[in-house]
Amino acid sequence: MEEKVVETTHVDDRGRQLYKIKCADCGKETEVPFKPDGRRPVYCSDCYRKHRPRRFSNRRF
Ligand SMILES: [Zn+2]
Repeated sequence: MEEKVVETTHVDDRGRQLYKIKCADCGKETEVPFKPDGRRPVYCSDCYRKHRPRRFSNRRF
C-alpha cells in the first residue's frame, strides 16, 4: 500500500476532503469539507453560522 501525502488538502477522520480557506469575515485560516468555488465567500465555522441563511425559521416567539 502506498501512502500519498497531499499538501494542499487532507482528509478528516470521517473521510471528507478538507480544503484550506481563509475566512471571508474574520480572516482566520481554516479548513472546510467542501471545495470553494472561488466566487462565493467562504467562512470559518463560527462565521458560517452567522452568515448562514435562515430558511427554516419556524420558531415562534
Ligand atoms: Zn470567520
